[in-house]
This record gives sequence, structure tokens and C-alpha cells, in this order.
Amino acid sequence: MKSDDFRPLFGRAVEHAARFREGLPAASARPALDYQGMRARVAAPTPETGSDAAAIIEELAALAAPGLMPTVGPRFFAWVMGASHPAGVAADMLVSAWGQNAGYQSTAPAAAALEEVAESWLLDILDLPSESGIGFSTGATVANGTCLAAARTGTLLKVGWDPDADGLFGAPPVHVLIGADAHSSLFSSLQLIGFGRKRVVTVDTDAEGRMLPSALEAAIRPLSGPKVVIAQAGQINTGAFDPFTDIVAIGHAHEAWVHVDGAFGLWARATPERKYLTAGIEGADSWVTDGHKWLQAPYDCGFAIVRDRAALTAAMTQWSSYLPAIAEGDRVPSNYVPELSRRARGIPVWALIRHFGRQGIAEMVERHCRLARRFAELLAAEPGIRVLNAVVLNQVIVNFGSGDSSERKAATEAVIAQTLASGICYVAGAAWRGDWVMRLSVTSGETTEADIEMSAAAIISAWRGVQAG
Ligand SMILES: *Cc1c(COP(=O)(O)O)cnc(C)c1O
Repeated sequence: MKSDDFRPLFGRAVEHAARFREGLPAASARPALDYQGMRARVAAPTPETGSDAAAIIEELAALAAPGLMPTVGPRFFAWVMGASHPAGVAADMLVSAWGQNAGYQSTAPAAAALEEVAESWLLDILDLPSESGIGFSTGATVANGTCLAAARTGTLLKVGWDPDADGLFGAPPVHVLIGADAHSSLFSSLQLIGFGRKRVVTVDTDAEGRMLPSALEAAIRPLSGPKVVIAQAGQINTGAFDPFTDIVAIGHAHEAWVHVDGAFGLWARATPERKYLTAGIEGADSWVTDGHKWLQAPYDCGFAIVRDRAALTAAMTQWSSYLPAIAEGDRVPSNYVPELSRRARGIPVWALIRHFGRQGIAEMVERHCRLARRFAELLAAEPGIRVLNAVVLNQVIVNFGSGDSSERKAATEAVIAQTLASGICYVAGAAWRGDWVMRLSVTSGETTEADIEMSAAAIISAWRGVQAG
């Protein structure tokens, strides 16, 4: 394609991107069409012949518009999701245009070098051991699987078994201990790496979902052989943090590999005011966090952080005669993740850290925590609305009404439906301790105090509407 053709084509894509973002503050908080509506809208026979690229971009923008969820807007609270900050999006546009295959340092020098510097910045900002290696993955699910694969290598090599060469058949069993309130995605990671999602020892947690050190001690003591303990920074409903100092001490006393899922919570470490929540976490062996949540990176962006770099690369490296030679000291990006060919995920991370700086990241995380508290206070002031968690981070769970749990569930579901109908903010439900709750996650870089006030008012008004019948 010639410059005369791709220049206007790229220009149109940028124009549509900007127009979409400009419309967000005033847009409804939910798409005009749901999935079924969009299916009907886009259904079409396989194209037999090609058509003009610029016309396709126009068609795509118009076709997708009614089905775009405003997750990058200021009032999406249903899940922990970042808002794909424009600085990261612009960098990601270049990533697509440059088309680097970031798997190898010699064939993608800029991508590999930028990823390497982003790795050291992340370790610095998250204050984790500087010798650690980071795999730049698609998200926390794959990053958890990557860290657990490194844990599999690290723990089994110690007992003389090489799981990467010989697999798990006939291997000494690895005991996996996991908190009762771990995120669902960990079980998908466990099944992927051959540990199995049911073959775990579940460790009891407290009312906020924090692993109980006494329960871990009791569970781990009878076990012999390789062990992995999976702890958590930021419970998905409450935002609570496991007591890492105790968990790490118990795990290491029993020679376990301690892994921490901190998909969003690990960023508490980036702010002086919240860092205490993560005390002792630096003693663990591996950590996961997402870039596409609190850092506001565009999807796909997760980080698998492993102290024992050699265990991580042993678990992830592939060999072939056609792959480029590696010089002493080279960092080969593909040796840190399950993929070979991939986009240059380090580049938007580099751009966002440059844009925010250490202080900007700390301010954003702190602001979201403050806004979550404000959200909780505004809602709790209304009769019949209960905040069910200690709001230590960015997560708030509330439910509505009185009566038994099924009546409260019906009330909470009705409030969620009415809130969505208002178009002011996007919220959703979750199960917590026998109750159905509305879960509010404040993680969009666009959210302001006014958005929180407007959204709290919409939820309160929905609740009043539900009571009025
Ligand atoms: C979001 C999340 C995950 C999964 O991360 P993805 O990036 O969606 O794969 C895992 N654990 C926790 C605590 C999360 O919040």
C-alpha cells in the first residue's frame, strides 16, 4: 500500500478514536445494543471479494459504535478495569504500525530494549527485588500461569525432577495451598499448568477474605515435598490484603514457593499512603499484576514477576535452530512468557510510566482509594444501604434492603437493574459471604469526584425507586 493510501487511512482511524473519546463524558454508561443486538447487526456472509480499506474503517466505526461499552469512560465500576489512557493508546498505535515481533532482541532491538527498561522501572516503582525478571503477558491470568510454571520448575528442580523436560507424569506431587477467597482466574492458571484446579488445599480466610496465618500453618504442617502457597494482594470484592509477613514466614519455614496474585492490589505498593497494606510482600518468590487495570495500559498487558529469573526462563524458553543467537547478558523477551511471536507490550508500559512518573502513579492510586471511600460514605448515609467491606483500597461492596438473604438479593438485583437503566454509571453484582452485592471498583483514570457523586446519587435514586415499588 502506498503512502497516498495509508496516510488518510491512518488519519481516519485516529479521527474515529478521538471522536469516541470526546463523546464519552456525555455518553450513556451502557451500550445502546447488547450482545444479541450486536450479533444481529454484524451478521454477514463471508466476503468473496475485497473492498477499499478506508471504506472498511468507516464501516467498522459505524457498525461497532452502538455496541461499545464505555469502559474507558469515567463511570464504569462493574469490574476492575483501567481506562486505556491516551498516552498508552497512542504508543500502542505505533506498536501496531511498527509491527515489531517482540519475541527476540536481535530482530526487534527497540522493542526488547524498551521492554527491558520498563521491567526495571516496574521493579523500582513496585519496590520488588531488583534481580527479579518480568514476563510481559496478556494479563494476570496468563501471568499467574507463568509464575506458577516458574514455581513448578523451581520447586521440582530442588527435589531432582525437571518438569520442563520430563513433565508431571511420575513427578513428586507438588502441594498447592490457596486462600479460600482467591480470584477465579487462578484456578484456570492451575488447570493450564497441570496442577489441577481441584487438587489444592484451601486455606481459611477471615471476614475480609484474608488468609489466616494459623490456618496456613495448620494446613501446611502435615505436608511433605514441594509446595506452593498462593496469596493475594487485593481481594476482588473487598480489596483486602493477605498478611504477607506471616504468610511468607510460614511458607518459607516449610520450603514453599510463595506466589502473590496482585492483579490490581500490587499497585498499593506504588503509593506511600497504602504501601503498609503490602508489608512483607517483597519476601515472596513471585508476584502478578496487571498493566491494563491500575496502570491504565491498553489491553493486553499483565506482568509475571519472578525473583528467580532462571526458574522463569527455564519454564518459558523454547529452542530452535532458526531462532537468533543469544549473547551473554542478553534479555530475550520470549524467554519470559509462553509466546514466541507477540506485540511489543513493553512499549505502552514504557510510555505510561514516562507519562505519569512515579509520583503520577502514586497520586492516581491514592485518588482512586479516596474516591472509593467517598463512594462508600455517600451510599452508607442512605437508609437501607449497607457497605459490607472495610474500604482499604479501591473496592466497595454494598447491598440493599432487609429481610433474609434472598430478599436482599432481589433488592440488590433490582437496584443494579435500575441503576443501569439510568445510564449514569455501569455496575454489576457478585456473591459475597452468602449475600448478593453490588461491587464498585474505582480504577478508571478518568473518574473524578463529580463522577462519584453523580453515580452515588443515581444508585440512591434507584434504591428509592425500588422501595417505592
Ligand atoms: C483481574 C484479576 C485477575 C485476572 O486478570 P486478567 O488480566 O483479567 O487476566 C486475577 N486476579 C485478580 C485479583 C484480578 O482482579
